[in-house]
Amino acid sequence: MCGIGLSVPGPVDPARSRAVQPPIMPGWDDYPIAENLGTRFPAPVLVDNDANLMALGAHRARYRDCPSLVLVKVSTGIGAGLVIGGEVYRGVDGGAGDIGHVRLPGHPGARCACGSLGCLAAVASGGALAAQLSEQGLPTVSGSGVRERVLAGQPEAVRLAQIAGRQVGEVVATVVCMVNPGVLVIAGDLAEPHFAAGVREIVYQRALPRATRSLRVEIGDREDGVAVRGAVAMVVETEFAPAAVDRRLSAR
Ligand SMILES: [Zn+2]
Repeated sequence: MCGIGLSVPGPVDPARSRAVQPPIMPGWDDYPIAENLGTRFPAPVLVDNDANLMALGAHRARYRDCPSLVLVKVSTGIGAGLVIGGEVYRGVDGGAGDIGHVRLPGHPGARCACGSLGCLAAVASGGALAAQLSEQGLPTVSGSGVRERVLAGQPEAVRLAQIAGRQVGEVVATVVCMVNPGVLVIAGDLAEPHFAAGVREIVYQRALPRATRSLRVEIGDREDGVAVRGAVAMVVETEFAPAAVDRRLSAR
């Protein structure tokens, strides 16, 4: 075994492989995930955020020729993974791409799992849509439940998915202006045509033509395969990087 790659649904400090204040993983802040697993398995353990690994997996599997890619995952929460110059961009503390907690104007009463009000995730995530459907007499427990209703053509679910797509598009348009990606992948439970149409509509409307003229907006895989592919790429590319191999050889 050359290594273990682990995906977690929250921000990860890349230097320490620990979750950093993950809103939907209460109690996991600063938990030594890699150290704990490392005592049970004789291999390096690398941990990253799920959207980062999905972005990396999508890039390595399908878009290797595209230097800049953004993947937006909308399931229980909302997050984004950025691949810039062919590598995952994590920011200084692993917080890059955490767009679910950008405040969306006009929703001051929407309470988010992070403790703030009006976050994008509190308004337009799979979890938020499930709550809205349940309030309207359509009991729905999760983002995957929302997806089932949308794919079944349930009118209220379709309407909410389109609105949520536009709301996510408001924030993603800013990301597109900043990153100028060649591909925007929509992934997670709400990766389906109605939601994607809402995102597309607002991104092309709001972002400047220079930022969108080469942009492809695509619906990604919902399955875990792309995240697994990203985890494999993370482990292989880290453990077999020339400097890492040199280090192991010189340690013998
Ligand atoms: Zn929040």
